[in-house]
Amino acid sequence: MTERVKSLIFRLEREQSLPEREYAELIRDRDEEAAALLARLASEKRRAVFGDAVYTRGLIEISSICKNNCLYCGIRRDNILAERYRLTPEEILACADEGHALGFRTFVLQGGEDPFYTDEVLCGIVRQLKERHPDCAVTLSVGERSRESYQALREAGADRYLLRHETADPDHYAKLHPREMSFDNRMRCLRDLKELGYQTGCGFMVGSPFQTPENLAGDLKFIETFRPAMCGIGPFVPHRNTPFRDHAPGTAELTLFLLSVIRLMLPEVLLPATTALGTVLPRGREAGILAGANVVMPNLSPVRVRKKYELYDNKICTGEESAQCRDCLQQRMRSVGCFPAVDRGDAPGYTSAKKNGIINEGRKKHGKIRSEIPESGRIHQ
Ligand code: SAH
Repeated sequence: MTERVKSLIFRLEREQSLPEREYAELIRDRDEEAAALLARLASEKRRAVFGDAVYTRGLIEISSICKNNCLYCGIRRDNILAERYRLTPEEILACADEGHALGFRTFVLQGGEDPFYTDEVLCGIVRQLKERHPDCAVTLSVGERSRESYQALREAGADRYLLRHETADPDHYAKLHPREMSFDNRMRCLRDLKELGYQTGCGFMVGSPFQTPENLAGDLKFIETFRPAMCGIGPFVPHRNTPFRDHAPGTAELTLFLLSVIRLMLPEVLLPATTALGTVLPRGREAGILAGANVVMPNLSPVRVRKKYELYDNKICTGEESAQCRDCLQQRMRSVGCFPAVDRGDAPGYTSAKKNGIINEGRKKHGKIRSEIPESGRIHQ
């Protein structure tokens, strides 16, 4: 590691910010030693804010039907080989019931942009979910919608929304998406979500086709200024039936490096160690935690649909039952000195949980989250 890189890292830690060109420099000139230093500082930061708790989110993949045609995505409209499914509201609620019994206090409803989920249908699902499990947070990740729609969903009780910005460079955005999709609309959505009081998540794929270190520096600067409550980053993994089938996947190495940078930039951000990271590296999610991530998202989708929600090739965790998925991740987190918390896991300082009369242990005092998710066979009360 050069003295220059070392000084950039310590400056980032101190000031939680670097000029954009210095983010690019840090990325370009990184080496193993720099990554190790960053990971150590980021891990310390994670511990200072969240203790040893790792937040778990139960992921429910509600539909593989999508009207969009993103060039990287396995469930894009033009992939005629993709197997399509859609969960009914009853099925979604049943997944959440099972998840609640397993100790989950946040559910992430993610899916393609499926026209079946009108505001009426989706608001109904959110409302019923919150009625049945008032101690839980609901996160939506169903793509671009109108401001009115986001507002209606928020009023129905949705707490958080994940919408990766994908890239902060409009030219790069145009290379990853079909002409009918626009960078401006993506950004409009993110602004609306934040204004409507969602805990909002942005993010991007690491190593997406045509991405340069300058693009990544732009992503980091965007994240630094947008100040999302959550940030999802994972490696790009090609899917055999997409136009990007022959592009190289993103690396775990660069993903881990960027996770650490983001943790230093935004110490309180909710940062998942993603399934895609676990797909490109066998102990990728554990490595993600050690690099500064503090969230994992075990899959609660019904096993029969899991292989069909195939955004990229070789996706892991498609064969297990929810309880197995939960147990496996619990083991993995323990192996790196962490424990999965039974907690909504709101972004620190966020107040919507309070409104519902729910006390978030994580906010009462950092590092004082003690409850673990229950073992198999023992049902959490
Ligand atoms: N339709 C929703 C959910 C998309 S899936 C939305 O538009 O937000 C969630 C994320 O998976 C996407 O935002 C994208 O960043 C990621 N993704 C899609 N295809 C991928 C691939 N081939 N490799 C890695 N990540 C991918």
